[in-house]
Amino acid sequence: MDDHRVQVAGTSVSTWHYLGGRRVGSPATFEVRSPLDWSWKLADVARGDADTARAAVDAAQAAFPAWAALTPAERGVHLHRLADAIDAEVARIAEVECADMAMLHASLHARVIPRGAANLRNYADLAVAHEERTWSSKGTANRVLRMPAGPAVIITPWNAPWLLSTWKLAPALAAGNPVVLKPAEWAPLSASLLADLAEQAGLPPGVLNVVQGRGEEVGAALVADPRVARISFTGSPEAARHIGQAAARNLVPFTAELGGKGPLLVFEDADLEAAARTAAGQYDDSGQVCLAGTRLLVHEAVHEEFLARFHAHVDAHVLGDSRDPATTISPLIHPAHLERVAGFVDRARAAGDRVVRGGQRAEVAGVSDGLFYEPTLIEPAANDHEIVQREVFGPVLTVQSFATEQEAIALANSTAYGLSGIVFTGSAQRAERVGRAVRAGTVWVNTFLVRDLTAPFGGMGISGIGREGGEFALEFHAELKTLQILEGSTRT
Ligand code: NAD
Repeated sequence: MDDHRVQVAGTSVSTWHYLGGRRVGSPATFEVRSPLDWSWKLADVARGDADTARAAVDAAQAAFPAWAALTPAERGVHLHRLADAIDAEVARIAEVECADMAMLHASLHARVIPRGAANLRNYADLAVAHEERTWSSKGTANRVLRMPAGPAVIITPWNAPWLLSTWKLAPALAAGNPVVLKPAEWAPLSASLLADLAEQAGLPPGVLNVVQGRGEEVGAALVADPRVARISFTGSPEAARHIGQAAARNLVPFTAELGGKGPLLVFEDADLEAAARTAAGQYDDSGQVCLAGTRLLVHEAVHEEFLARFHAHVDAHVLGDSRDPATTISPLIHPAHLERVAGFVDRARAAGDRVVRGGQRAEVAGVSDGLFYEPTLIEPAANDHEIVQREVFGPVLTVQSFATEQEAIALANSTAYGLSGIVFTGSAQRAERVGRAVRAGTVWVNTFLVRDLTAPFGGMGISGIGREGGEFALEFHAELKTLQILEGSTRT
């Protein structure tokens, strides 16, 4: 009997770590509850510590030589097998992820979970397709080799655990680096399912290891381990600073995908209906989206009309159980996070900002212990107020107006973040000008969230360091080596 397993939404989930192909417990545990109904306890999950971190890196280190020795095509076979295993279990993974972190079940099932498989296939193929650069110069034959770097630590946040774990896992494995994955303590369960699927798919022991626990405990111990060759982190700038210090001590390359405070610019020549629909869509997942355009910046000539349309779209939102297809806004992840969101709005009120709509917790009929906050719009009294400058990570947007394109760009670029921007305009020239001028790793024009897996992804300013996606993540996970052989000096 596997007494470390619990049933979550009808699926068996291990509460233990997965180290070197084996399930391993810890003396301590932490409790995981469902944001769908906070009285619903899902599991007591093993709470890793420094010993767990050491054992996980031991396992990854032991797996490294054999995994690195495979060709990209051979590793690709494993990645495709894991992708197939995911495809076969999309429904179960979606149910568990929904119970664990409350993203809308419909989008988990249709889009988010299958994308994990797509990402694995994408990287399996990309690593094979990559051509070595070779050329002749100064009497030598030059080649650029991509060498696997060594064990990689991947640390993910709670707002997209499955999506981000698989997004980061695929390039690391494709590049030849075994992985230690640490999911966030508020939503660790889909990572445990990923370990089960890796085992089913025959991934060699130690190539994927999953440890659970708190960031400051097992997370900090993992990133401090000098045997770790790469650290790929997604989360808050605060945690990134700690992790960056550990990476600096060991001189280990580190990518960080961090928070955002994206502008959503609406120019007077924009399709206002599309802009208003997209703006109202920023409340999806209760605004717990790093890429969200949370600062609405609207040209003064269309401000009123835009807001009328925006309110109509927000009125149509339905707060509710994420499993209900009618729901468009899910609950927040955790009571502590709900408190945090409410704190931002309370402080904005106290600072003289005007709450245009929302601004309080919401009750939802039929949901006990619900963690809902009303979709909230705030008109700030000044641009330097906290509500404009700091990421809330909840269903809270601000709205400001501008008179000129120059002013719009200045407002757009007036925070320390630089993850994403959204621009609505009917002018091709303006799309180009503003698209270039907005300081952000990704700028969408007249659309939102459309992503090509091969495009670079990351943030400027305090939104991140480095780029992932496509070739960029493969490059990060490789050690590039220049091999120069004197021409004519060797025989076959
Ligand atoms: P967080 O920084 O608190 O935690 C993220 C992960 O880091 C968790 O697994 C946590 O346990 C771990 N961690 C925390 N402190 C650590 C330490 N000292 N050493 C090692 N690990 C540590 O973030 P969160 O609250 O889970 O997630 C929300 C944040 O993530 C938001 O700021 C959001 O914008 C950001 N985010 C960014 C992206 C992106 O792609 N840029 C995507 C999703 C979320």
